[in-house]
Amino acid sequence: MRRLFVPEGCVGRDLVRLCGPEAHYLRDVLRLAPGGVFLAVLPDGTERAATVVRLDEGHVEAALGEALEPRADPQADLRLRPALVKGRKLDLVIQKCTELGVAEIAPVLCDRSVSRPDPDGSAHKLERWRKIALEAARQCGRTSPPRIAPPRPFGAAVAEVGALGGAGLILAPEQAGGIGAQCPILTASDREPVSVLVGPEGGFTAEEVTSAREAGLRPVGLGARILRAETAAIAISALLVYELGELL
Ligand code: SAH
Repeated sequence: MRRLFVPEGCVGRDLVRLCGPEAHYLRDVLRLAPGGVFLAVLPDGTERAATVVRLDEGHVEAALGEALEPRADPQADLRLRPALVKGRKLDLVIQKCTELGVAEIAPVLCDRSVSRPDPDGSAHKLERWRKIALEAARQCGRTSPPRIAPPRPFGAAVAEVGALGGAGLILAPEQAGGIGAQCPILTASDREPVSVLVGPEGGFTAEEVTSAREAGLRPVGLGARILRAETAAIAISALLVYELGELL
């Protein structure tokens, strides 16, 4: 059944009234007629079966049926902290890591981040990232996208791991005490949320890795091949969601 995210303000008692892009999607893309059914994801995250009762030029009205158990939302609290990188590479990371079940993504401004946030472009970028996350969530069956936070400085990202009281990892092949990942990566004493920092194109500086270690983050290596920053972010997310039981 096709899913539709119902915007705030469109939900009545056992009924949704949709207009704009949502009405267009149901009428012109899915070509639903009265009696047609879809899955309505309400603003509070609950999912209800919905049956179209009326539709005209700009509006679609649908009756809400029983609530369904959402199955695709991540239970684990995995927080990805990818370095701010050039161009649109983070777009891919956000899309793929949403599909994999990451709970939160907050870009990090590192010493070697080539891309620096500029006040004008930043709001626009954040809006684009949130849109990508929402579309990916919709496509993969999540009822809510991961939270996407504005870029933060490296020091703040590291300090937050301590404040959260969960586990912290930093992908740093040269500092991981051997090149490979231990198997499993997480230990029995690691608690959620699990935060993981991934470096920029030029890698982390030695000082960054040292300060992360001092704050209690554990360096992790992913083998002898140097991965691009975006590959590394997607790969570690896949490994960690697996270890956190998200793929069962
Ligand atoms: N130019 C850097 C590599 C940067 S790769 C260098 O030669 O060291 C970008 C980021 O991806 C790295 O900072 C690291 O966080 C991650 N990464 C890439 N390959 C990795 C590997 N094999 N193990 C661990 N992290 C890796």
